[in-house]
Amino acid sequence: MVNMTTPHAHAPDDTSLSLLRRFAVASLLAFVVVAALLGYVFRVLSVDNLINDYQSQHVNHARIIANETWDKHFGPLIRDAADRPGTELANNPHIPEIYLHVQKLLEGTGIFKIKVYDLRGRTVYSSDRSQIGQDKSGNVGVQAAIKGNSSSQLVHNAQISTFEGELTDRDMVESYIPRHDPLTGQVTGVFEIYRDATVVLQQIRQREIKLVGSVVVLLALLYLTVFSIVKRAQDRLVAQSAARQRAQAALAESEERWKFALEGAGDGVWDRNLQTGEVVFSKRYKSLYGFADEELEDRTEPWDARVHPDDLPQVIADREAYFRGATSTYVSERRMHCKDGSWKWILSRGMVVSRDAKGNPLRMIGTHSDITERHEHEQALQLSSTVLHTMDEAVTVTDASNTIISVNPAFTVITGYSEDEAIGKTPSLLASGTHDDAFYQAMWNSINTQNGWHGEIRNRRKSGQLYVEWLSIKRVCDAQGVLTNYVAVFSDISERKASEERMHHLAHYDVLTELPNRALLGDRLAQALAVAQREQQHLVLMFIDLDKFKPVNDELGHPVGDLLLQAVAERLQQCVLRDSDTVARIGGDEFVVMLLDVASMQDAMVVANKIRHALEQPFDLGAHTVSISSSLGIAMYPEHGGSEADLLKNADTAMYHAKEAGRNQVQVFHEGLTATP
Ligand code: GH3
Ligand code: MG
Repeated sequence: MVNMTTPHAHAPDDTSLSLLRRFAVASLLAFVVVAALLGYVFRVLSVDNLINDYQSQHVNHARIIANETWDKHFGPLIRDAADRPGTELANNPHIPEIYLHVQKLLEGTGIFKIKVYDLRGRTVYSSDRSQIGQDKSGNVGVQAAIKGNSSSQLVHNAQISTFEGELTDRDMVESYIPRHDPLTGQVTGVFEIYRDATVVLQQIRQREIKLVGSVVVLLALLYLTVFSIVKRAQDRLVAQSAARQRAQAALAESEERWKFALEGAGDGVWDRNLQTGEVVFSKRYKSLYGFADEELEDRTEPWDARVHPDDLPQVIADREAYFRGATSTYVSERRMHCKDGSWKWILSRGMVVSRDAKGNPLRMIGTHSDITERHEHEQALQLSSTVLHTMDEAVTVTDASNTIISVNPAFTVITGYSEDEAIGKTPSLLASGTHDDAFYQAMWNSINTQNGWHGEIRNRRKSGQLYVEWLSIKRVCDAQGVLTNYVAVFSDISERKASEERMHHLAHYDVLTELPNRALLGDRLAQALAVAQREQQHLVLMFIDLDKFKPVNDELGHPVGDLLLQAVAERLQQCVLRDSDTVARIGGDEFVVMLLDVASMQDAMVVANKIRHALEQPFDLGAHTVSISSSLGIAMYPEHGGSEADLLKNADTAMYHAKEAGRNQVQVFHEGLTATP
């Protein structure tokens, strides 16, 4: 069955949504990291900058302080401390004075504490007096400065005690600045300058936060913009893909439907790629040729190889005609080879269903229908038609109301009516008027009850001439048994009838006198005897032989003898009145008269004498008048014999005795007569 469910359009499904969400979260995290990194870099650079800036300021401050205080205060302080222990250094009496001086110098500089080290790394001065005397020789900054290099560092959350008291949570920049002797350039001591950078660093931090914030916001905005663009594009893609899916599903469904319809109709479906030669065959297609589902190769070549070699040129011509545009669809009939070796007549039909931009055909779909039966039927019809047109018998087909719908050429030959003259008429067109209603009633009765009739019928040609036909009529019914046609086949048997009659006549009648011959006399005698026996009647046979006939022939010629024989025959017939009586010529000048139902021998004698007398009368034979006499012998049934042979023999015997007795007389048979020698 075809899958009838309609595939619905896919909205963006869960997978794509969660993917999108994950992408969003990951992107945002990435922005935060990027922003944080940016902030970090900003801060590091800012702090470095700050330290460098402070350091260079501190170098200047140190120089100023040194200029103001070195020779007077710190120089003597260092020299004085040189030979004292660290613990005593804070006791130098000049320190308060120095402190005041220094504090004055530091006013407005942001520097809230300075320390001075001697070249041994000992603290000779500090704004925090408790620190004086501490050994800082291990301090890296101090060591570097002693070597002549300035350095600075940032210190967070430092707690410092100054003259102003305790300060906690301070961010400070400490710089170690060497003091060079102006004349020698040698390092004479080290300043350590403390400067509170808390506020500046807070500013830096705030700027960093702003920067990070604005970067995050900017990136988020950018992201949102990109996201909405991507989202819109994705939605559009999804919609397009859904539409495409719908279209494909609809196409597939419609393909399924027509394939199903075609398969249901018993046709095999083929789907051919004209570029690659690949062909997809439906299940029905394969079964049409006796192949299982997976058996037939899906290529054009083996497909063509199954076409009957005699039909292949026509198939190729049909294809070319279609591709040339000469036909609107591809139609081709051919024999195809089946798996079992048999051949089937196949009707192949097809159409190009897709073309490239240039119009070249890409794909063609079509069907194969098994028309073997139809083909055989057509051939049988063709044969029937040929037979119908060439046969000597006339064929008339009428519809159920007996109106002629078709005739063959022999019909026209026999009847003289053309096809156009016959169609639309009834067969009574040919009626001769020589048969009565009963004849036709019997005919129709037979047609209707026994589905047909055959027999001889006399009809009339268009010329008016009568003829005899042998006619056979059949009823034709459809599959439901409903009468649809009558088919009449007839042949003209006039000539045959005539020749049959001629043959019959020759066999039963004497050619010269037209009288029944010996054979017919025998038949009639046999029949008459049966009747006489049944009816207990008398039957008389008279044997008549002309007297001295031979001399007539001899003297007047054989033709005159013939004329005489004909004239005798005529007179004999005139002497016999009843139709049932027979006059026959059974030999040269021998005649037999048979009388039926004769009451007595007297009656027979009357006829016999009448005959003898009639034949005595001269015959006028044109140029000659001939006189002759006759001898008659009579035998009567049942007195003189019960069989044909006995009666004939006895009549002959009687006649022989009439001759013996002198001719021109009648002799009745009796037992005393001796048989003919
Ligand atoms: P009889 O009185 O004894 O009968 O003598 P006949 O001359 O009549 O002799 P017969 O009856 O024996 O011979 C009959 C003759 O009839 C013999 C034959 O030549 C002749 N004949 C037989 N058939 C025909 C025929 O068809 N035409 C003619 N013209 N003569 C025939
Ligand atoms: Mg004779």
